[in-house]
Amino acid sequence: MTDRLYYHDSFLYDFDAEVHSVLETPRPGLVLDRTAFYPTSGGQIHDTGSIAGVEDAGAKVRVTEVVDTEDGHVVHYLEAPLKDIKPGSRVRGEIDASRRRDHMQQHSAQHVLSAAFVRLFNIPTVSFHMADDYCSIDLDTPSLTQNQIESAERLANEIVLENRVVDIRFVTRDEAEKLGLRKLPPAERDQLRLVDIRDFDLTACGGTHVAHTGQIASVLLRKSEKVRHGYRVEFVAGQRAVATARRDFSTLTETAALFSANIYDVPQQARKSLDEIKSLRKQREQSLEELAAAQAEALLAEIPEKNGRKLVVRTFSDRDLNFLKLLAQKLTRQSSAAVALLATTSPQAALVFAQSPGQPYDMAALLKQAMTTLGGRGGGSKDIAQGGVQNSEGVAAALAAAAESLTL
Ligand SMILES: [Zn+2]
Repeated sequence: MTDRLYYHDSFLYDFDAEVHSVLETPRPGLVLDRTAFYPTSGGQIHDTGSIAGVEDAGAKVRVTEVVDTEDGHVVHYLEAPLKDIKPGSRVRGEIDASRRRDHMQQHSAQHVLSAAFVRLFNIPTVSFHMADDYCSIDLDTPSLTQNQIESAERLANEIVLENRVVDIRFVTRDEAEKLGLRKLPPAERDQLRLVDIRDFDLTACGGTHVAHTGQIASVLLRKSEKVRHGYRVEFVAGQRAVATARRDFSTLTETAALFSANIYDVPQQARKSLDEIKSLRKQREQSLEELAAAQAEALLAEIPEKNGRKLVVRTFSDRDLNFLKLLAQKLTRQSSAAVALLATTSPQAALVFAQSPGQPYDMAALLKQAMTTLGGRGGGSKDIAQGGVQNSEGVAAALAAAAESLTL
């Protein structure tokens, strides 16, 4: 079993050790007799840093990942093999201190936050997840309000401000059962490591923690979402909280500049803009409807009847499919004997063929024929059919050919 130095001192960033075994495949790695490197476990992600041979102090190799093995060892995976190192060699390990400090801030913040949810609302934490840029806890509760989130955040930050001592101690399982821990692990271990935030939280945990809650610096709760068995609450602590607030502020500032508004007026401005868009969209629809009606009337007036029918053949360069459909509807409703063969070449080439109810042709068949020459997809019914075309070239010719094939 590897002697875990971090159990007793989370602020130990340098240590000496003896090599227990050397791994070569699939990745180079080292098992030491003792280590200050924290392996990924209990929701907390592993440390990084470097290991160097004591004899050859110049050769330093990066530790990229640290994992627990089932038999109680800690494996340090290395970026490259460490030269001339074999079982029994002396090495020196160095932890990436800023990453470790960040992990301590996040993990201790989690304990404070989980305890705050229990104290205020009797909501237990069922799991903890630490990612590279945020953390989350899963709460066992059927509901969670914004008010509860903000209250827990406030209490957590009060505990930070009070700078309470965080003690680490080891007890037997029997002792632990009498202490009323917030969380008792299911493992059948004889000895439990307790993290004691003075007069606030006592729980069993193997993670690395701050020595005083003031070192957490700040706790900021962010997204909360319903998950299968409760609610997931994301949070950031310490420098992460500052970095996140900085990013939020930059985003908000950029958005506010778009509205030429104060950042606190952004929601109101955004709402106003969305309302405007909605109303403009409505106005546009109405205008298009009126335009289509007027255009249909003009077309029907200018086109002469042939055998009692009016054949409208038009290619537009600046209308969309919706307008073509609208125009086709107007033409075939305003006249009881209209046949409309409409096309547009831009922004997206499309065809709409329509006839007034009772006319004898088959618009779907006519469109299908046009599509075989143009290439594209479409369909419809006897009275109205539509299709999109990949290439606008040949649209006008296809329309003329379709008109030609109708015997009026
Ligand atoms: Zn913990």
